[in-house]
Amino acid sequence: MGAHPKNRVVRTSGRGARSAPPRMAAATATATASAPRATGAEPRRRASWDRYFMNIAVQVATRATCDRKHVGAVIERERMILSTGYNGSIRGMPHCDEVGHMMDSGHCVATIHAEANAIIQAARNGVGIEGATFYTTASPCWNCFKLIANAGVKRICFAEFYRDERIFEVAKRLGIELVEIHLDEA
Ligand SMILES: [Zn+2]
Ligand SMILES: [Zn+2]
Repeated sequence: MGAHPKNRVVRTSGRGARSAPPRMAAATATATASAPRATGAEPRRRASWDRYFMNIAVQVATRATCDRKHVGAVIERERMILSTGYNGSIRGMPHCDEVGHMMDSGHCVATIHAEANAIIQAARNGVGIEGATFYTTASPCWNCFKLIANAGVKRICFAEFYRDERIFEVAKRLGIELVEIHLDEA
């Protein structure tokens, strides 16, 4: 009875009149069933928490609007994101991408840096960041470092060194942990 053509049509979803014959369907089902076992043989490498938040900071950086350097920042505490920021112009002002940079002594000063914007976002939302960890795609400049330190942040993870060596010595003195996280490593 099952071999009757009419029955076969009833069992299909109705999308295709030319559905696979039962023999082929069975073969497909076997392949599908064995797939998870094959994947299980090589366990997926799960991202560490540091890498996870840094990956998010990299994503945040894609919103940056000053192409002299795209930076993204994430503020995290107890594995929860408190705030994010990227470098861009003052709200309501045109972006560097649209009108060019505002150069001052070799630096573009049109933008608010990613780290500062992350702190500002936390402030606007009334979120305390005391004791938090900062993830930033580039190590903080001196001005941002000062903001981060005074905001009570205890740990700064950065993906790439940027510009200011002073942060290392001062961070050590203040008991702020500075951690480099290489993006090319898993
Ligand atoms: Zn700019
Ligand atoms: Zn900065």
